[in-house]
Amino acid sequence: MQGDREKGLEARDVGFRYGKNGSWILKGVNLTVRPGERVGLTGPSGCGKSTLAKILAGYESPLEGEVLYDGSPLPEKGYCPVQMIYQNPEQAVNPRWKMEGILCEGWTPDAELLRDMGIEREWLKRWPAELSGGELQRFLIARVLGPETKFLICDEISTMLDVITQAQVWETLLRAADRQRLGMLVVTHSTALAKRVCTRIVSLQEINQS
Ligand code: ADP
Repeated sequence: MQGDREKGLEARDVGFRYGKNGSWILKGVNLTVRPGERVGLTGPSGCGKSTLAKILAGYESPLEGEVLYDGSPLPEKGYCPVQMIYQNPEQAVNPRWKMEGILCEGWTPDAELLRDMGIEREWLKRWPAELSGGELQRFLIARVLGPETKFLICDEISTMLDVITQAQVWETLLRAADRQRLGMLVVTHSTALAKRVCTRIVSLQEINQS
């Protein structure tokens, strides 16, 4: 149904805290990212942006409320159409896999994408520990730009990149987003970045009732 398809990725009345006696970090949070929309999520450090990002990507389950993808819970099997890119690429790779295996786990990116991301062919034969954080991050971004990805959750993804690489990576990402009509949640403390790459900016503090 076209109507359902356009529902996008939704957090509905989401509440979350770490541990049974922790204070509520998120309460009554409602946020929808529609296909093709790039939503910037801003707010001071510690206000729960990364926590909400992980919940939307299905890495944490909300204690209250729900996350819906096109009106249904996230699929538990197969390739997840909602993919997350972290601030620290090291935490997202298996150090015992060579880069070629990591990159081509879900699909095989073409030469054009590798070139646009500034990925050298020779790096494919290396172990993750043999790349800089910025080089590794570019692999991880290319890895999630496959045709089955519909939503990207980006948590401070360009912090470790130099300014020129940052611009190049965002340009490639935005081109892929336009081409595939990706919905994106862009967690950032940089209002300048949010204004540059997002179609809409949401302050977590304004939508959080905790
Ligand atoms: P932000 O991304 O806005 O900086 P986070 O979502 O990372 O905020 O963190 C929100 C709050 O939850 C912070 O007070 C942080 O200390 C706490 N927190 C984050 N992760 C954990 C965890 N795994 N266990 C306990 N507390 C956590």
